[in-house]
Amino acid sequence: MNKKVAIITGASRGIGAATAKLFAKNGFTVCINYKSNFKAANLVAGEIKSDGGNCIIVQADVSNENDVIRLFETVDKKLGAITVLVNNAGILKKQSRLQDMTAHRINEILTTNVTSYFLCAREAVKKMSTKQQGLGGVIVNVSSGAAKSGSPNEYIDYAASKGAIDTLTLGLSREVADEGIRVNCVRPGLIYTDMHADGGESERVERLKNIIPMQRGGKASEVAEAIFWLASDKASFSTGNFLDLAGGL
Ligand code: NAD
Repeated sequence: MNKKVAIITGASRGIGAATAKLFAKNGFTVCINYKSNFKAANLVAGEIKSDGGNCIIVQADVSNENDVIRLFETVDKKLGAITVLVNNAGILKKQSRLQDMTAHRINEILTTNVTSYFLCAREAVKKMSTKQQGLGGVIVNVSSGAAKSGSPNEYIDYAASKGAIDTLTLGLSREVADEGIRVNCVRPGLIYTDMHADGGESERVERLKNIIPMQRGGKASEVAEAIFWLASDKASFSTGNFLDLAGGL
């Protein structure tokens, strides 16, 4: 059994894919979780394998409780004890003001961006807890700078979902600190990924770039490096901590 096993949710592209590749490069056996795009997940797996890394691909909608349970059981059976969970899967909807937000949209944002993090963290804690024969481990949550700005007139639903992740990080880190589990969080600012393309936001991305002190957006690989550090033994006394990656914004 491999002693370094990481599950990265939403790893078929963007920050998740960059994180999966970085962990694999550093000796982890990685579970690439994806929701619907097997082709993209398979491409990431192909890159990892051609680089000499180890990985498996597991389909699961992480906002669905049964899928999450199956995801963790599959990894447990195929790879052994999980030591890192990166809660990364997330969605952003088109810019909108509150008055135009439907319950359907709000619920979709909350179940995908919040419920899924709770469910995956729950399953991870069950497997990792040293009080339940686990090896201990680390959970890194991907929040957003939006949790602090609130994203008015754009997507306060998304921002609020990320605020919930900050609070989850804080509370859970204290709840499981004596079970050998650290829980940390990264808060990226503008990162160039397809998430923005989905919302047809190229104009917004250009505008934001100009107010970032470093005058650019970040790369998915730059977020991956921070996630990796927080999950590594180099951050062994760090729990309940937040790392902002926003070029000074
Ligand atoms: P992305 O859209 O490229 O990647 C998100 C991934 O999550 C996709 O692969 C998607 O299929 C997956 N996903 C969505 N719902 C899922 C579900 N129910 N089950 C499983 N997978 C699911 O975007 P990204 O920029 O790489 O975003 C990754 C994380 O970073 C998200 O949590 C996002 O909120 C956060 N973030 C991104 C930025 C940015 O500027 N790109 C900034 C701050 C925070």
